[in-house]
Amino acid sequence: MRRKLVAGNWKMNGSLAENQTRLTQLVSALKNKEAIDVAVFSTAPYLFQCKSLLAASGISWGAQDVSEHASGAFTGEISTAMLEDFACDYALVGHSERRELFHESNEVVADKFAALLKSSVLPVLCVGETLEQRESGDTMTVIIEQINAVLAKSGIAGFKKAVVAYEPVWAIGTGKTATPEQAQEVHKAIREYLAQFDADIAEALQIVYGGSVKPDNADAIFAQHDVDGALVGGASLNSNDFVKICNAAG
Ligand code: PEP
Repeated sequence: MRRKLVAGNWKMNGSLAENQTRLTQLVSALKNKEAIDVAVFSTAPYLFQCKSLLAASGISWGAQDVSEHASGAFTGEISTAMLEDFACDYALVGHSERRELFHESNEVVADKFAALLKSSVLPVLCVGETLEQRESGDTMTVIIEQINAVLAKSGIAGFKKAVVAYEPVWAIGTGKTATPEQAQEVHKAIREYLAQFDADIAEALQIVYGGSVKPDNADAIFAQHDVDGALVGGASLNSNDFVKICNAAG
């Protein structure tokens, strides 16, 4: 039985004061939430704050991106070892905003995933299709290409210590959500694809859905067999909404 993971992607939002309120509210509202995994992804400057306010709360924290390089002349980048210093449990790789706005290729995303595997930080690999790709029937072709780049570098064993987030690009920040059936169809197809390489790893893999998850649609999405939680953007900035989504997960 896979545990559900509900993770909040704060994107480039927050401040010391705002985060203090948000994190304190989460810690008190999510007390005794042992049945699910909960995480927040803050921007790098606030990882220290997450570490100090979330340590011992049972809530995890992570980064929204990481460098594929270990150290050196990469101005502005942040290494896996630096994320380890702040006790991050997770890091996103290949979020569609990174792929689109910062032109990250499947290969770069796969290098970041491989770098994380050498650390104690779990990669959360984001995959998903644009509206154009969905409408032309290419959803799974695109997702399999994104996954194949990771398989080529890290093998199926890489998915033993990772999470996959299916995030249809057309549903991110748009208020449009994939129907629970659309999400289930893709999650099942991802699991079946990976099962060809290792059935046990595919069965145990947490595959979370992301794309305008809100308190009023979370129940139906979480009821799907292959949906193991959510990556939540906008709604994670509102503690009440985020807590409601966590409660819907278990
Ligand atoms: C995201 O940024 O990963 C996301 C799913 O955003 P939203 O929930 O706002 O669509």
